[in-house]
Amino acid sequence: MKRGKCVKCGSTNVRRGPKPNMWRNSTGMIPLGSAWGTNVGVRNYICADCGYVESYVVNDEDREKLRKKWKLASERDDD
Ligand SMILES: [Zn+2]
Repeated sequence: MKRGKCVKCGSTNVRRGPKPNMWRNSTGMIPLGSAWGTNVGVRNYICADCGYVESYVVNDEDREKLRKKWKLASERDDD
């Protein structure tokens, strides 16, 4: 998707949203699941033909928060 091609339908009509901005919250946020203020901003890529959406945490500091806070998807889900 980042290279402009939809992974679902193959269309090249992929649109990129604005960079995340914590103050305006204009693009979308993922809550980390604890106290206030622990959201990470995402940048969205949307296929304008089929509507598929991909979101990326583009900030490396935010990705580090996720690495510390969230479990690997391959771990047993016992929550
Ligand atoms: Zn598509």
